Amino acid sequence: MLDVNAIRKDFPILEREVHGKPLIYLDNGATTQKPRCVVEKIEEGYYKNNANIHRGVHHLSQVATEAHEVARRTVQKFINAEHAHEIIFTRGTTESINLVASSFVDQFMQKDDEVIISTMEHHSNIVPWQLQAEKKGIKLRVVNINEKGELDMEHFKSLINEKTKLVSIMHVSNVLGTINPIKEIIDIAHSADVPVLVDGAQSIPHLGVDVQALDADFYVFSAHKIYGPTGMGVLYGKEKWLDKMPPYHGGGEMIASVSFDKTTFNELPFKFEAGTPDYIGSTAFAEALNYVSAIGMDNIAAYEDELLHYAMERMKTIENIRFFGTAEQKSGVISFLVGDIHHYDMGMLLDRLGIAVRTGHHCAQPLMHHMGIEGTVRASFGIYNTKEEIDALVAGVQRVSSMF
Ligand code: PMP
Repeated sequence: MLDVNAIRKDFPILEREVHGKPLIYLDNGATTQKPRCVVEKIEEGYYKNNANIHRGVHHLSQVATEAHEVARRTVQKFINAEHAHEIIFTRGTTESINLVASSFVDQFMQKDDEVIISTMEHHSNIVPWQLQAEKKGIKLRVVNINEKGELDMEHFKSLINEKTKLVSIMHVSNVLGTINPIKEIIDIAHSADVPVLVDGAQSIPHLGVDVQALDADFYVFSAHKIYGPTGMGVLYGKEKWLDKMPPYHGGGEMIASVSFDKTTFNELPFKFEAGTPDYIGSTAFAEALNYVSAIGMDNIAAYEDELLHYAMERMKTIENIRFFGTAEQKSGVISFLVGDIHHYDMGMLLDRLGIAVRTGHHCAQPLMHHMGIEGTVRASFGIYNTKEEIDALVAGVQRVSSMF
């Protein structure tokens, strides 16, 4: 499938210790560690190829520009977008959703029109819509979930009506691990002529994504969750939408011409990339995509699936454990609580054993509210995790439990 020992050697941070114990990093849902090649790409960018891109006649500017545009084509290929200009570089998932929320609502929505989201959404896919609701009087409709943490598809269908102008749903839940039936969601929405935005923050590192096969209208994700740099992300949007949407930010690069009387805007993708972009970040991001592509997204998905199943089986043996998210289709994360041990206590004590997990509401407070809890302990997996690390997690949780 994949050679995890060889992969681990590519991630220098995995050699370090925490509190005198070997680091066991199980917080990949928050951010992933970086392989050497990605960090070296950043170094190479600044040491050898640094110059502001576009508009430069000198050699370095042209080299930097070409690298940035190659990065765009790398992303295009990675998600199988039809055109490179459908790839907009942003600061991450959050900025991508805010861009669509602002520009799409401006162009295509009127007061009382509706956006459908779901109970399991990350705050990044709730708050941008609420901001628009405040400003423009649009309405949010929220799809229910069942006790396993799966979307209630009948409820979803029942929410679609003539006021529905957009569906904005996560592909994989960062808390529950649920893989939502995104193709089915898109097909249902399209049959009512409603476009769909997919929050791919948690799917992109784990599943192969083909935006054309999905027929997604917008697909957004962050580089740092797929072994790339922070502060870099993508908005994929179909040309037919992006072309009609107004710019989000004004400034340099996004204009065709400016006078004090009238400004005309640049073509895609530049219309949405105001200011100097993170052209070093984009090339490092492309390096990360090349890195995972060389391993193979199918191999990654299969390996992580095996890890997840192993972890679920092993963790079931822990006394008084409660899982949050037991969907049939699940990826990447396990959320749990043990007895009445507070999630912070569990997280802090696991940390003393060198085990990094995340605790709290995971930026999904409405979901926590729905489940009647304040937070969970979350272990989330990446390509470098091993069954031995899962054994250590299980032993760690058991040890912490025995202290209470
Ligand atoms: N959506 C989901 C499902 C996420 O897991 C995250 C990150 N936790 C985000 C959105 C926001 O990503 P970022 O902070 O990189 O913008």
